[in-house]
Amino acid sequence: MLDLLKLRKRHGRPVIKDLRRAEVKAPFRGFPLLREGACPDGCDQCLRACPTGALSIRPLRLDLGACLFCGDCETACPAGMVRSTPAHRLGASKRETLRIGPGETAASFAAKAIGSRREIRRLFGRSLKLRQVSAAGCNGCEMELGACGNVNFDMGRFGVDFVASPRHADGLVLTGPISRNMSPALKDAYRSLGTPRVVVAAGACAIHGGLFAESVDLDRSFLAETPIDLFVPGCPPHPLTFIRAVLDFLGR
Ligand code: SF4
Ligand code: SF4
Repeated sequence: MLDLLKLRKRHGRPVIKDLRRAEVKAPFRGFPLLREGACPDGCDQCLRACPTGALSIRPLRLDLGACLFCGDCETACPAGMVRSTPAHRLGASKRETLRIGPGETAASFAAKAIGSRREIRRLFGRSLKLRQVSAAGCNGCEMELGACGNVNFDMGRFGVDFVASPRHADGLVLTGPISRNMSPALKDAYRSLGTPRVVVAAGACAIHGGLFAESVDLDRSFLAETPIDLFVPGCPPHPLTFIRAVLDFLGR
């Protein structure tokens, strides 16, 4: 018993007291900074290194929705045009906001990326129940979303929880690239939600297709048919990235 008490004392308080001020440290790779100025003539090393086609050059642009945050472009670039930072606020309300360019900072991105709507704040500001649908995800996103509710992150303190059925949910969180087999089940889950409803796309696979974007076994028609309220980049998204995006979306 004494040993157990000593162990508890050594562990300290596992809960993160103020999630809004919490920081993630390197080697976590979050918001990438793109340097102003021209790439060296003829260079396309970053394009060759990028596994998902998230980059374009001349002008230099990076799609946070497609990015796996692998850091390969940073390593490949001989001119230091891309530099990762550990800034974890990556969520956005609009898909196009995720396409960033030179000069954009983590702070300038976070300040404008998520708009909080009055109706959403009124209806869900104090309680948001979410049904997670893994549409052929690798389980990375699913594990990190599961971690949002653990004793460290304790997302439930904000009234935001995952529930077991779309019938009990105010919104749906999509993970995975959406295989043809999962597409009908995803659409069924969406139709089972009440209205108004919230849809969150979490992870590179859900937002863009990620590593599987070119697969013939995907059916991503759900994204064309359904308004998405919140995009949360990452492969997988860090729990703080997800929680912070939801809180910003709820105006909390
Ligand atoms: S960090 Fe993102 S943009 Fe860079 S190579 Fe990896 S996936 Fe591509
Ligand atoms: S985004 Fe990455 S972690 Fe999430 S399902 Fe796809 S491959 Fe897995």
